[in-house]
Amino acid sequence: MKNLLAVQGQIKSGELRVTDVAEEHISLIKEKNPAINAIIHFDEEKVRAEAGIIQNKVDAGTAGPLAGAVVAIKEAFSEKGKKLTCSSNALRNFESIYDATVVRKLKEADALLIGRTNMDEFAMGSSTENSIHGATRNPVNQEYVAGGSSGGSAAAVAAGMSHAALGSDTGGSIRQPASYCGVVGVKPSYSRVSRYGLVAYASSFDSVGPIAGSVTDAALLLNTLAGHDPLDNSSSQRPVEDYTAGLEDREANLTIGVPEEYFGEGLDPEIRSSIESQLSQLEQEGAKLLPVSLPHTKYSIAAYYILATAEASSNLARYDGVRYGHRADFKEVEKELGAERERVKQALKGKSHAEVEAAFAELDSPLIRLYKKSRTEAFGKEVKRRILLGTYVLSAGYYDAYFGKAQKVRRLIQQDFEKVFSQVDVIVTPTTPTTAFKIGEKVNDPVQMYLNDMYTTSANLAGICAINVPAGIHPNGLPYGIHFMGNAFHEKDILRAGRRVELLQG
Ligand code: GLN
Repeated sequence: MKNLLAVQGQIKSGELRVTDVAEEHISLIKEKNPAINAIIHFDEEKVRAEAGIIQNKVDAGTAGPLAGAVVAIKEAFSEKGKKLTCSSNALRNFESIYDATVVRKLKEADALLIGRTNMDEFAMGSSTENSIHGATRNPVNQEYVAGGSSGGSAAAVAAGMSHAALGSDTGGSIRQPASYCGVVGVKPSYSRVSRYGLVAYASSFDSVGPIAGSVTDAALLLNTLAGHDPLDNSSSQRPVEDYTAGLEDREANLTIGVPEEYFGEGLDPEIRSSIESQLSQLEQEGAKLLPVSLPHTKYSIAAYYILATAEASSNLARYDGVRYGHRADFKEVEKELGAERERVKQALKGKSHAEVEAAFAELDSPLIRLYKKSRTEAFGKEVKRRILLGTYVLSAGYYDAYFGKAQKVRRLIQQDFEKVFSQVDVIVTPTTPTTAFKIGEKVNDPVQMYLNDMYTTSANLAGICAINVPAGIHPNGLPYGIHFMGNAFHEKDILRAGRRVELLQG
């Protein structure tokens, strides 16, 4: 992994040219990407041309704050003229017609956008295996998953194919792959970063943030990404802070809440003891540790998978194959319906005309059948599972029992955090209960897959910010992370805590 700040220093002093940085990354991608499959669309010539333009700005003294930064973009974000498939057959041939606000901001800051990264279909998953582009492999050990859904972004950064990458996090999709690949990932508070141009999964959870090689690099990216956007009414009007300022200040107080509920059953003992020993090192350096309790955490996975699927079922209704996206062959639809009418006719031979007509009326109309067939062909298994689950929990008979109840639980989880944040600056937990799992190991076991999110979904339920920072290498050779959560709009606290852990690693 490279240190973006150092690269920028060399570019400023003229020691290094943006065009050289671009070449270096182009050859790295060619060398490493075929095995890792992190970057799925990449236009070498365009990258070269862009790098030339940025270097000219550097020479003229007009370059933006991210000049020299090579950034990969998760395929869930619109980038004008680039393919946006969201790893789904539904959007196999879709091309973005505008820039997402965060993409525009990165361009305006003179970041070099190097390519589009692989993800789980519509950001639903924890392994980047649910993808029409095939699975992304963990650069640390290619038999293992990179995590998900922003697995391509985390793997690109971990393999040095980009300095940083854009991810989205609905229940952990920035932090979990960052943990599995050994890089930094920040999920900002809900509404801190514009979602305009991000394909919606669960709109009251979706957050946009950076994945990078260090806390400082992530903070630098966040400076550009954060802020109000008139095109996203939910984005906050709060002024943006300088997230890089004060990161090295080790004198400032830091009170860390340690919730017992996050260190219990299911946690790998090695990860537990490593985090505990790092916490005591932080304590020796002056941080205060405070045992705290977040009693409703045990319901967060259940609440998340009810509420997120409910929102997803509504958001994904737009893929009807009529306005855009995959459309089934209409001739096939007509053929199917024709055959069904024929079958009805045969079955009701000798019955009255009215009876036959009544049976015909039970069949789908051509339009309804077109929707059904298009969506059946468009979506993968996991996406279908979530649409079914989401429509079920929203249906009249079950709304109160599931959706309504989960909303109440969400409120209780938020209140737990409010209470604890009146006493502490940050809350520490592991990011994931284990290190990365093997490719294929959990694809047929959705519950095991969902349990990956046991420490990350609560931050999305509460709308607060959180970070993954690499915390060590397990005896099995794979990285794992430490997770700090901060109160809404307290990004500086989690960055500060993360930087201290980074300094412990030496
Ligand atoms: N793994 C979680 C899920 O499958 C989180 C995904 C995300 O944050 N986009 O829903």
